[in-house]
Amino acid sequence: MERTIFHRIIAHELPADIVYEDGDVVAFKDIRPKAPTHLLFVPKQYVASIAELTPETAHIPGMLILKAKEFATAHRIDGYKLVYHVGRGGGQEIYYLHLHFLSQEKMVEEGAKN
Ligand code: 5GP
Repeated sequence: MERTIFHRIIAHELPADIVYEDGDVVAFKDIRPKAPTHLLFVPKQYVASIAELTPETAHIPGMLILKAKEFATAHRIDGYKLVYHVGRGGGQEIYYLHLHFLSQEKMVEEGAKN
């Protein structure tokens, strides 16, 4: 299997504007944002695409949605859109599963919450 750009970002081998990380997920700003806030939530466990899910990995998309929801609450984003691109016909360019988080609201950065 060829390593993707996202393998390298989550391994901290390539720079990215990481906004959140824990043992299961890394979230970073999309390099070509399509909304004032455009983040990508990437699981540390590799899955190529929704199209490759199995019963063993089916929990991962829900886990990413939960992380995105918690991130939105923490950063005071009330409304957002969550998108999975699936396969070439669905606009998927990078074959490492990721959740797009888009909002017309700007995120409140850490340290600027009060
Ligand atoms: P896809 O079309 O595969 O669902 O989405 C891939 C996304 O990754 C695109 O929105 C694209 O702008 C973003 N992207 C591609 N290369 C990089 C990169 O090197 N760094 C970051 N931060 N985002 C990237």
